[in-house]
Amino acid sequence: MGTDCLFCRIVAGEIPATIVRETATTLAFRDIDPKAPTHVLVIPKEHYADVVTLAEGDPGLAGELLATAAVVAEEEGLTTDGFRLMFNTGPWGGQEVFHVHAHLLGGAPLGPMLCR
Ligand code: AMP
Ligand code: ZN
Repeated sequence: MGTDCLFCRIVAGEIPATIVRETATTLAFRDIDPKAPTHVLVIPKEHYADVVTLAEGDPGLAGELLATAAVVAEEEGLTTDGFRLMFNTGPWGGQEVFHVHAHLLGGAPLGPMLCR
């Protein structure tokens, strides 16, 4: 995928990001437009468009992404009061960047899951 994908470019170091954790296969960085006091995006370094193609293509990597999200949640102090981990998927899910990413949100009460 490479140059056309914003998050592949962050993985490549071509676009700056505030990285909070990096493993051999995953990267966690702060969302540029945070929707909560803590808002971190967790991605696989390898390009998958969404959580479905990731889970189907490499379930082990999907597990590594979850493990990184869990460590970041611990490091950010979110596990006592709780947090939200979210994959927007496709147009109805509100996905804007088509490199799979988990939104890790916390640091305050997040309110209802959806606005009605
Ligand atoms: P989604 O709508 O689920 O695809 O989420 C995309 C997220 O990427 C949004 O929350 C954006 O604020 C975030 N975002 C877009 N560009 C950047 C960037 N350069 N660095 C960090 N986060 C970004
Ligand atoms: Zn990508």
